[in-house]
Amino acid sequence: MSLAEISSRITAAMAAHGRAPGSVTLIAVSKVQPLDRVEQVLTAGHRVFGENYVQEAQAKWPDLRDRFGPVQVHMIGPLQTNKAKVAVELFDAIHTVDRPSLAEKLAKLAQSRGTCPELFIQVNTGAEPQKAGVLPADLDTFLHSATAMDLPVKGLMCIPPEGEDPAPHFAMLADMAARNGVSGLSMGMSSDFETAIAHGATHVRVGSAIFGARDYSAR
Ligand SMILES: *Cc1c(COP(=O)(O)O)cnc(C)c1O
Repeated sequence: MSLAEISSRITAAMAAHGRAPGSVTLIAVSKVQPLDRVEQVLTAGHRVFGENYVQEAQAKWPDLRDRFGPVQVHMIGPLQTNKAKVAVELFDAIHTVDRPSLAEKLAKLAQSRGTCPELFIQVNTGAEPQKAGVLPADLDTFLHSATAMDLPVKGLMCIPPEGEDPAPHFAMLADMAARNGVSGLSMGMSSDFETAIAHGATHVRVGSAIFGARDYSAR
């Protein structure tokens, strides 16, 4: 467990790039991790986590919240429309709003509940065919329609293409957020969170660098 090491690297990157104290939130991505590793990070005092799968999060977090008190849990994985209702009840933020049908479903749920998690729109900055996210060319229109539905759009999220320099993708996301007047930038993972902080990330999503490698075979 190296939560302390990652936290100090975040603080150093913030200082190096003139970022204000408190302007970057570390989301500890606990998907697929053994419970004891998650408990260690909770015991160390961390209270913001990320999950990719609704079912896994549902099995884990109600109990951990009972035992550890309020914990923010962010949904950072693809969200099926038929799981949206469970998701809005469980998560404090959803980073993966990526299509009109999901936005419409979330707007209906928000209206009937009178509340909604903070939302990020996922942008497919590399225009990769296999990857979720709104295409850069469609972002402004999509964001306007989400705002028109009264959805609380906090910002934008991206996952740069593997094996590419992430910096231009982070810069593109920051430009799109600025021109649309949204402040949240969910970008940066274990291998590139410092670069993301240099480009204005407000939320970095770090998993394996905190918890160790994920063992999918043990699920
Ligand atoms: C799994 C995941 C992360 C964390 O990845 P690491 O490389 O382990 O830090 C971050 N963001 C998303 C969207 C993920 O699915």
